Amino acid sequence: MTKKERFLKYLYSKGKSITLTYYTGGSVCPCMISRDANNPAYSAQWHIDNSSAEDCNGTGYIEQTEVSTTLKGNIQTELQSLSNFMNRENKSEIGELQKGDIVLFGQCSASDGSWFDVSNLVEDRDYFTIDSNRYFRRNTTDINFESIVGQVSILKRSQ
Ligand SMILES: [Zn+2]
Repeated sequence: MTKKERFLKYLYSKGKSITLTYYTGGSVCPCMISRDANNPAYSAQWHIDNSSAEDCNGTGYIEQTEVSTTLKGNIQTELQSLSNFMNRENKSEIGELQKGDIVLFGQCSASDGSWFDVSNLVEDRDYFTIDSNRYFRRNTTDINFESIVGQVSILKRSQ
């Protein structure tokens, strides 16, 4: 058994249940290119001016399909472990850590224990639900024990 397989087996048997909600398909909302097609950005004004159009709710995407799946993950809640884990570069990238922020130290699919990549989740749209709290992914890096065995992510608690 490889290190990665062992780590996934551990997550599958000992990991905490996590609900992940993410969105697939759909298309870019017209508001995104209403000001500058070369520099897409959400426009609240476009939605005011086009109130009959579908509201993208600040996400910049419309007609998306919501998908909910259950993962199992190793959750670290101690801020001290967060600080130990992160280097200065990561800290400046994700900003100040707040009380309630956590680290997701590895995750797998809860249905069959297979690898589940979270690195492509959209930061302020897709979210994790853990113990009724909502979290957004901020930073994902590889966990490398001689070979890459998983991912570690910062989860910022939603206000
Ligand atoms: Zn929009």
